[in-house]
Amino acid sequence: MSLRDDLYKEVILDHFENPRNYGILEPCTFHEKGMNPLCGDELEIFLRMENDTINEITFNGKGCSISQSSGSMMTELVKGKSKEEAYEILKKFKKAILEDSNEVFSEDEGDLEALLGVKKYPVRVKCAVLAWNTLEQLLK
Ligand code: ZN
Repeated sequence: MSLRDDLYKEVILDHFENPRNYGILEPCTFHEKGMNPLCGDELEIFLRMENDTINEITFNGKGCSISQSSGSMMTELVKGKSKEEAYEILKKFKKAILEDSNEVFSEDEGDLEALLGVKKYPVRVKCAVLAWNTLEQLLK
């Protein structure tokens, strides 16, 4: 195992064990539940929009470390962003993990690179995109 793989594992584990923005948001403007039956992951996202900005976002759920750490990273990144900005991050991440492209992530988005390690495993890719697909449903 390379040093980079080790680092990635640590990033994922950190988000899994200390999830950011974890819990139920009340009151919220929107919420949406996503599931990945292949792995048994469940994830619910709560959103509070003000004008066009994601003022508050939390997630709640259970499942593997990939799905839950992805939820943690996602909420951390889109919180405080406009709907459009959140969409940009979402598209970038999905492109990076679903297609054979080399997306460039900013320093803020750096943790996302850790998730790209699962690219070779189709089942795990579904775990990694669950939070993002659920967010996409909400932003639509
Ligand atoms: Zn999973």
